[in-house]
Amino acid sequence: MDTRLLEILACPACKGPLVHARAAEVLVCRAERLAYPIRDGIPVLLDEEARSLASDDPLLAR
Ligand SMILES: [Zn+2]
Repeated sequence: MDTRLLEILACPACKGPLVHARAAEVLVCRAERLAYPIRDGIPVLLDEEARSLASDDPLLAR
């Protein structure tokens, strides 16, 4: 997947930056603790597809 594409992706809800969690194949909005799925290399940036993360979710750790 094109890394530069991921760098310009912003959260559709808060417009904040998304962090690519490669192992989980999700894009994480740290501000809102949401994880957007990546399916077949395509980020699915839809509210209804986003998964809420617990505050201690490892995906939120750096
Ligand atoms: Zn957000």
